[in-house]
Amino acid sequence: MSSQQHPLGISFEFFPPNTDAGRDKLMLVRDELATRNPRFFSVTYGAGGSTQARTRDTVRTVSQNGITTAPHLSCIGSEKAQLRDLLSQYREEGINSLVALRGDMPSGMGSIGELRYANELVEFIRDETGDHFNIAVAAYPESHPQAANLDKDIENFARKMKAGADMAITQYFFTADAYFNFVDKVRALGVEQPIIPGIMPITNYTKLARFSDSCGAEIPRWMRKQLESYGDDSEAIAKFGTEAVSRLCQRLLDGGAPGLHFYTLNQAAPVLKVVDNLVG
Ligand code: FAD
Repeated sequence: MSSQQHPLGISFEFFPPNTDAGRDKLMLVRDELATRNPRFFSVTYGAGGSTQARTRDTVRTVSQNGITTAPHLSCIGSEKAQLRDLLSQYREEGINSLVALRGDMPSGMGSIGELRYANELVEFIRDETGDHFNIAVAAYPESHPQAANLDKDIENFARKMKAGADMAITQYFFTADAYFNFVDKVRALGVEQPIIPGIMPITNYTKLARFSDSCGAEIPRWMRKQLESYGDDSEAIAKFGTEAVSRLCQRLLDGGAPGLHFYTLNQAAPVLKVVDNLVG
């Protein structure tokens, strides 16, 4: 972790670009976001390991300015030998933080692999590498889409934390009470590690609505109605989004959230508008 971190404990997530232009742009975005002294950057991993090389390359370039950078790593569709290899490559490259996930099986892809759930991946990483990695896992304040219900999902989440995770980052959500309710329930099961809210800036309503349906994040009715009323007016959507997301973040921080993790979608401006609105 870098010294003199932002007082609110912010971190930023990127996805691995697939063109040279995207890579160049990401370096500019990284430099802009680095000025706010984040705790860490993280870089996503494609379903079934499809971006393995690009994730590694992106981690290598993003981390050049000295800010801790955590690759995401998913186990579904992978064999233990492949995961072991990747872990040792990361160790050799000086990486000491990971976001450990089950991931989703890409359609048409073959076998599930040797590890079925994220708790098994966390156990595997601990067995293989001891305390080398700081491990974050995923949390779902509004329930993972495949879970029977929130209580069942929270039991599974607690198992994952007790397998050796150091912290969790949540799926994005727009209702602060969903986060507080989740944290209360998880604490009642004896889980003490920090649970960092994942924050999605609002810039494009159509894409957001599509993605939210598939990942189980609720856009509240009042927000949907308001966003729909702006039609193609991207300026109005961005202005509303900045206000609504800033209010959400402030409420989370005021209620005790131990930091904020921003899904940047490789763009600096929408995230910085929110970050710079917040007070500690
Ligand atoms: P798990 O924790 O394994 O949970 C998956 C489902 O199985 C849940 O319904 C859970 O209740 C259930 N379950 C868990 N453990 C057990 C068990 N032992 N027995 C029975 N049921 C169980 N996807 C990517 O492809 N790449 C990424 O980089 C990526 N990054 C993400 C980052 C964050 C912060 C978040 C919140 C999500 C991310 N995802 C990413 C999405 C994630 O891969 C999917 O949501 C995936 O469906 C679940 O992964 P998981 O690690 O949460 O799974």
